[in-house]
Amino acid sequence: MAQEADNLDRAADLTRALAEAQIAAVRRQVKPEQVQNPDGTWPIVACIECDADLGQRLALGKIRCVTCQDLRERGGVRQWPR
Ligand SMILES: [Zn+2]
Repeated sequence: MAQEADNLDRAADLTRALAEAQIAAVRRQVKPEQVQNPDGTWPIVACIECDADLGQRLALGKIRCVTCQDLRERGGVRQWPR
């Protein structure tokens, strides 16, 4: 009985650690990559990789267009199951 409770505790710990890792991964993905100027403009307004207009991604403080960000994410370690 005590053994079973230990296993349940371990499973709960594992589940919690996994969830926290996934939350941290999403936070890294959504966090702004540049700081907005006090006047509301952005220091970087075009993709740093291909110079494309950042469009709506600018409002998120991103510095790469969707295409370049996607390529970058595919090239790196997969952080979130899709
Ligand atoms: Zn780009």
